[in-house]
Amino acid sequence: MASSISSSALRLLGRAGRLRRSGEPYFALSPISASSSSSSLSTTTAPLMEKEKEKEKEKEKEEEVVIVGGGIAGLATALALRRLGIAAAVLEQGASLRSGGTSLTLSTNGWRVLDALGVADELRAKFLRIQGLVMRSEDGKELRSFRFEDEAPGQELRAVERRVLVETLAGRLPPNTISFSSRLRSIAWQGKDGILLELDDGRRVLAKIVIGCDGVNSPIAKWMGFSEPKYAGHSAFRGLGQYPEGQQYESKVNYFYGRGLRAGFVPASPTKVYWFICFNSQSRGPWIADPSALKKEALDLVQTWPQELLDIIHNTPDDAIVKNPFVDRWLWPGLSPSPVAAASNGGGSAVAVVAGDAWHPMTPNLGQGACCALEDAVVLAGKLAPALAGSRGAVAAALGEYARERWARVFPLTARAGLVGSLLQWENPIVYAFRNKVMIPRLARLGPLLKHTNFESEVLETIASK
Ligand SMILES: Cc1cc2nc3c(=O)[nH]c(=O)nc-3n(C[C@H](O)[C@H](O)[C@H](O)COP(=O)(O)OP(=O)(O)OC[C@H]3O[C@@H](n4cnc5c(N)ncnc54)[C@H](O)[C@@H]3O)c2cc1C
Repeated sequence: MASSISSSALRLLGRAGRLRRSGEPYFALSPISASSSSSSLSTTTAPLMEKEKEKEKEKEKEEEVVIVGGGIAGLATALALRRLGIAAAVLEQGASLRSGGTSLTLSTNGWRVLDALGVADELRAKFLRIQGLVMRSEDGKELRSFRFEDEAPGQELRAVERRVLVETLAGRLPPNTISFSSRLRSIAWQGKDGILLELDDGRRVLAKIVIGCDGVNSPIAKWMGFSEPKYAGHSAFRGLGQYPEGQQYESKVNYFYGRGLRAGFVPASPTKVYWFICFNSQSRGPWIADPSALKKEALDLVQTWPQELLDIIHNTPDDAIVKNPFVDRWLWPGLSPSPVAAASNGGGSAVAVVAGDAWHPMTPNLGQGACCALEDAVVLAGKLAPALAGSRGAVAAALGEYARERWARVFPLTARAGLVGSLLQWENPIVYAFRNKVMIPRLARLGPLLKHTNFESEVLETIASK
């Protein structure tokens, strides 16, 4: 992955020590190349060479803190850092915010983070609070019904459109924080005090701290030695049914459990209903570009299932349907690399760290991937910001704390989400009968099932107070 290094980049590393505070202009990056005298050049060639040099300068920038990936983790981290007085530049591969992905359910832990970041109320005003959960078999027969108020008081659950979530986070960042069309092509240590990021269009950014929030196929995680995420054997269709005249569904999660197949829907807003279908498939399957083919495939899976589910799918514009494989990566202690990397000879100040799906992709069976990405963001910012004001080693030590604290949270959740998914997707008739006749109607208790949505951290208050 190493890329060629400009000698001027090395020279300028010495200058990269000053922190850009959040009031200063963003991504007005200073050039890496040092200027040289043109006095010995002929008058005809000099302007041309100066122009070339200018062009080169524009391609080479330096930054203190660079976040790669303008998704949920990246934008939340940028915002948390900003609230703590630290400016970070965000490099996003898309030409605009990646707005696909329909909706996500965010639980209490996600809302606590959004509260701390100061964006929760703006989102609450747009998305309905879900009051409970109804579990049914695939023929529509009710197996069990819960009200959060009785079983898990205080639980806050809403199905939030991903587009609105990322736009809201981005809207709180100063203009030009996010550099679009900036796809990371390669990353390499630049001595012990810098990390050189090369972008697809040839631009180069020299950073001291790189925060990899580049999602499930993260090139930064790969560079740090992480394995590819593993396919869990099932995939999902998701979509957003649209009701311009208003939808009539109760504010509950409606879940249908079949054999090796489950589906559900959740009212998201007064005019939109989020739905999903999880199905077994030996492989991830081909990429389907035709959106109407996705809808047909989704409908074929549940054609004999309750009409209300089918109606919502029919009410979904073709381009509001997506198909995703479920993947995860279990962070086995001793086997999985650290999410924090410093230059190999140590003693330097350059550090790379990963957060969100880049570090711990988890299957969405507990609806916790984005919630944990939000948690990562505040913990990472809460550790990094004070350390940046300290000594050289302080940053690596602070990020080490982030790694330990977050590992204890995300490894068990990733494993649990994977196991829950296997149980729910089992096609075995005995397991199916036990689940639908004994486990759900008699044994399931919502409070313990949702315990993982508690998230306490003193950093929440620190960030909220800024
Ligand atoms: C089917 C399904 C259902 C889900 N449901 C839920 C749910 O209900 N609740 C929940 O909490 N979570 C859910 N999740 C998980 C959630 O979507 C992820 O955990 C969350 O999006 C992770 O955020 P992230 O910022 O780490 O990654 P992403 O949101 O994927 O963002 C990564 C960003 O990095 C950018 N990027 C990638 N590579 C590069 C590069 N080389 N250079 C520059 N930029 C780059 C991408 O364009 C993107 O903007 C679900 C996931 C799936 C698949």
